[in-house]
Amino acid sequence: MTEPMEGEEIPRSIVYLAPHEGESISHYLGRWFRQDVVQADSFSVGGRLRLGKILLRWEKFYFNPPPSSTEIAKLAKLIDLETEQLMQMFPPEGESIDPHPIRLCAACYGEAPYHRMQWQWQSIDRCDRHRLILLTKCPGHKCAAPFPIPSEWPTGKCQKCGMSYRKMVKYQKPG
Ligand SMILES: [Zn+2]
Ligand SMILES: [Zn+2]
Repeated sequence: MTEPMEGEEIPRSIVYLAPHEGESISHYLGRWFRQDVVQADSFSVGGRLRLGKILLRWEKFYFNPPPSSTEIAKLAKLIDLETEQLMQMFPPEGESIDPHPIRLCAACYGEAPYHRMQWQWQSIDRCDRHRLILLTKCPGHKCAAPFPIPSEWPTGKCQKCGMSYRKMVKYQKPG
């Protein structure tokens, strides 16, 4: 009777935050740091692990030099993720990344509001699911603000004109 049910969650640390499918490391780190429990404890990843500068680089999608297995293992331990789960938020080996501009498929964002790692692949300029060209800046009237790094996407709105990312779908060209 008291046996664990299938699919029951494994006990996790209080700082555990489940990643979304295909979520980019930058977007995930932003969500992770904004958790109440992390904020309240002034949980200092940089101080504890000397990963501070490295995390900042990853938030900006600077992967040169690429993340080392030691760095990945340290971060995985701290945030209570499996190494494989964490690795999935980085680009796959051999896939080049464009750190600028930050790109967006507003149709994807409307379904689930987070930045996908794939949008920054150098080899990709469209969303295959929606057959739309990715946006590279705000399409708002006379705005054209670049998208901030995804760790700074708490509101999902353009910081200059206020247009919500999900509404930008009507400006996406078919591709
Ligand atoms: Zn899409
Ligand atoms: Zn704008």
